[in-house]
Order: sequence, then structure tokens, then C-alpha cells
Amino acid sequence: MKCEIIEDLLPLYIDDVCHEETAKEVMRHLEQCQQCQQLAQFMTAEHYIAPAPIDVKKARAPFKRINKKRYTQVIIAILTTCLLSMITMQVIRDVGVLNDFFFPMSTAIAAGNTETWTAVSFSENGIASKTYLEYPLLFSKKELVNASEQPVWVRVKNEQGQIIVKAQKISGNRGIDLHELKRTEKYYVEIKQVVDVEDHIILNAV
Ligand SMILES: [Zn+2]
Repeated sequence: MKCEIIEDLLPLYIDDVCHEETAKEVMRHLEQCQQCQQLAQFMTAEHYIAPAPIDVKKARAPFKRINKKRYTQVIIAILTTCLLSMITMQVIRDVGVLNDFFFPMSTAIAAGNTETWTAVSFSENGIASKTYLEYPLLFSKKELVNASEQPVWVRVKNEQGQIIVKAQKISGNRGIDLHELKRTEKYYVEIKQVVDVEDHIILNAV
């Protein structure tokens, strides 16, 4: 028998787990072959630990498990972030001070008794009056609300003086949607009253 085969059989022979016939063959070879004898002695010695056969599939399994775990973690992280953002938005909408900060309201107070189109000025949360209406980049509903009791006619022009929102009547405590307006662009709001009323008109741009 070839030395290479004996070398493979030696661990089984030493552990006494090979077939009787095989053991005999190995023994016979060892009697004649000094090289294999030395190898057998070395393998029998206490310090020798036979290399364990490696199961490639099993060896890879932990890595696969880690990848799956990581994937799950990433999904959970994304979902948590989305949920937190939604909660944060809700809190901002519900808490007045934050609401004012994130959803600034421009208010226009004009005399109610205007029979011709009159431009109104807006002030943001009571500070700094400006002649134009401007919706910020984020966090606004783009609505114009008539916060007074009486109806008012409103129209909106752009900087070039073109009418962007045609004249329409907003009833008391009602609003109109201004989604056609572009953000951060300046618009000029004009109001008109058909009925002569002394009360002031309050328009809130939200
Ligand atoms: Zn040999």
C-alpha cells in the first residue's frame, strides 16, 4: 500500500476505528516503512491534534446568519426613523409654539369698506409688515383664510401684475386653497368689499 494511503488511514488506525483488514494492512506497512512509523509515533504523541474536517457549508452558516441579522437591523432602523418623524410632525402640529415656528402665519388686517381692489400687507406672527404674500419652502398649507365674520372678495397677482388667482368670494371664517402658488415667490393679494361694512377684514395665510 502506498505511503499516501497509509498517511490518510493513520488517524483511523490510531483511534482504532478502522476495519480489521485495514488495520492489518496499516500494521504490515508500518513494519516495513520507517517514514510512516515515525509519522504514526508523532500522531500518537499527546500534543498531536488531528485536523478536524471542515464542513464548508457549516463554516459559512454563521456569516449568513450575521447578514440576515444585519438586514433585519437596517429594516428596523428605517421603520423606526419613519415612525419617529411622523410622531415629531404630529407633536409640532399640536404644540402651539412649535406650530407657530414651523407653520408661520401671515396675517393681513385691512379696512372692510373697500369698494375697489385694494392691496393688503401681511405681517408674520405680528412682526414685520410686508406688502406681499410668500409661502415658505416647507410647512405651510397654502391656504388663505378669512378670519372675519363678513365675506370678502380676494384676488392674487404675481410680481408681474398678472392675476394668478381669479377674484373669488371667501365667506366669513372660510378659506381658499392656494396650491397653484409657487413657494418662495412673491404674490400680491387684493381685496374688495361689495357691501360696505365697517369691520376690519382679517386674512390669515397659513
Ligand atoms: Zn510508508
